[in-house]
Amino acid sequence: PSRSDITYFGAGPALLPTDILEDAAKALLNYHDTGLGIAEHSHRSQLAADVINQAKADLVSCLDIPDDYEILFMQGGGTGQFSATAYNFVGAWVTRKQQEIFGEIKGDPNDSKVIQRLKEAVDKDLKIDYLITGGWSQKASAEGERLFGSEHVNIAADSRKTNGGKFGTIPDESTWKLSKDAALVYFCSNETVDGVEFPGFPKSLQPGPDGKGPIVVADMSSNILTKKIPVKNFSAIFFGAQKNLGPTGITVVIIKKSFLPPFTSQPSANLMRQLGLPIPPIIFQYETIAKNNSLYNTLSIFDVYIIGQVLRKLLQTYPDKVEGQQAVSNKKAQLVYDAIEAFPEIYQIIPNKAVRSRINICFRVIKGGDMDTAERAFLEEGIAQGLTGLKGHRSLGGIRASNYNSVPLEGAEKLAKFIRAFAMS
Ligand code: PLP
Repeated sequence: PSRSDITYFGAGPALLPTDILEDAAKALLNYHDTGLGIAEHSHRSQLAADVINQAKADLVSCLDIPDDYEILFMQGGGTGQFSATAYNFVGAWVTRKQQEIFGEIKGDPNDSKVIQRLKEAVDKDLKIDYLITGGWSQKASAEGERLFGSEHVNIAADSRKTNGGKFGTIPDESTWKLSKDAALVYFCSNETVDGVEFPGFPKSLQPGPDGKGPIVVADMSSNILTKKIPVKNFSAIFFGAQKNLGPTGITVVIIKKSFLPPFTSQPSANLMRQLGLPIPPIIFQYETIAKNNSLYNTLSIFDVYIIGQVLRKLLQTYPDKVEGQQAVSNKKAQLVYDAIEAFPEIYQIIPNKAVRSRINICFRVIKGGDMDTAERAFLEEGIAQGLTGLKGHRSLGGIRASNYNSVPLEGAEKLAKFIRAFAMS
């Protein structure tokens, strides 16, 4: 089939808009009439800096990111950020504690008495809090444990505990066991595999009237740019580009400047060694990436260029920016869920209704009692109609329709129609 014959619902990487790819093909050969392609220009050139700065400015505009946030383009994927978030926010916690202790003891911050007290504080109080609501937050917490040891990881909530060992819910906030002064509280705002999405920013993580609150870090790899988010409530947000933003290869971090120099510096490698804590690879150190406007090492400027084109298109399509996109995302999700829910004897939505994802729609086909046969037929008939990428994740089975931004409204309409027709056939 040709590109225009199919609607792709794969979980990632996602479709990219065809017009953007057509322009990109030209840019790969000759960018801005320079005779060199966009992927061939030096990452140290003005042209590369312009691509980065424009993409940053457009992301700020799309998401209304306040001035006291920095944007980093990194490599290593969402998975790299499972490590980076733990390293950097533990580093910031250590710096904060060192200053507190130094403030009490006075003298030299590297004095052995300060280090001794700091070591005691690390052993007793250093915690990374995770809310586990699906496979991706589970993986992030496993990385936190691998790097820092289970004694420094607090699983503040785990939806499997109250749901028969399965994901599909978000535990009631009243049951969360948050640490008093966690280095960070981590959650995944949309669980791509399990189809669970936080309906809003958790109340118990909200800053108080003084603006102070827990240090909240979120993985938004699969629902960034599909809804408006209260950026100011987060200390950091990260996402791989490959679902709603661009090609695989770039991970974006939006981080509050108060966690970067001159406000906060990472502890020295020597201090971390004395404290028995791990030291991040330099390419995962946010302050290094920030100081170099994401060009500490060779970055794929082509990937940032595509991200920039996608953001530009979003801004041109929706005068109210991400809220315009949100309305369309919600409408597409509603169309598909309405079709599924119209046939409860044929389909079963996997996650709990209150937390089901607008972006990764996970359901089973129970028609005739034999799910395997029914789902195989569903997938085959779907493909015959140009509806592809619908197979669920291998760990969960079933069907998963990923409703990323590049899936057009007509694509969701086509899928909803097919879901209804299949049920009645
Ligand atoms: N987090 C979420 C929510 C994801 O959906 C994914 C990938 O699908 C990841 C993290 C991992 O990202 P990567 O494959 O870029 O490491």
